[in-house]
Amino acid sequence: MAVHNHPPDHDHAHCRTTALARAEERCLESGARLTAIRRRVLDVVLDKHQPVGAYDIIERLVEKGHERAAPVTIYRALEFLVQQGFVHRVESRNAYVACTHSHATDETVVLLVCETCDEVSELSTSAIAETIAAAAGRVGFLVRQPVIEIVGRCKRCNGLRNPAQAFNQIKPKPLAV
Ligand SMILES: [Zn+2]
Ligand SMILES: [Zn+2]
Ligand SMILES: [Zn+2]
Repeated sequence: MAVHNHPPDHDHAHCRTTALARAEERCLESGARLTAIRRRVLDVVLDKHQPVGAYDIIERLVEKGHERAAPVTIYRALEFLVQQGFVHRVESRNAYVACTHSHATDETVVLLVCETCDEVSELSTSAIAETIAAAAGRVGFLVRQPVIEIVGRCKRCNGLRNPAQAFNQIKPKPLAV
């Protein structure tokens, strides 16, 4: 199991450069076209590790000196970026976050959404993927895009130095009788 955390002191410029370079590389390999608008939208989504909606993307592009894009243009670009696995859709926020590490496009993605600071990190574990695929298979359901969203509080917002403490903090609620 790997946790991909983004502490505030991480080198985010490196994060962005790596993600953009990887997107370009993958498109070269697959023949997918990373057009100017698709690249620009990815760049804006990469501004933060917090979900950003289509309308905010339009505004940020304007702030960066680009022409005001039509929402349909942005949605099409986002659709491409999601399909390619460069961006994940955060359903609960109706918004998008960039995937900042490489994993297969069909891999189960567990998004950890912090309800305090909005930061989204990713958890990848094949154990969860296998459990879901097996359970879905039993009811004849074919999983296409497994994305799970977990809402909670990130390590920083929790003020935890040692993540293991979190387990001690969770006290089961007494059952109402
Ligand atoms: Zn970063
Ligand atoms: Zn990802
Ligand atoms: Zn947080």
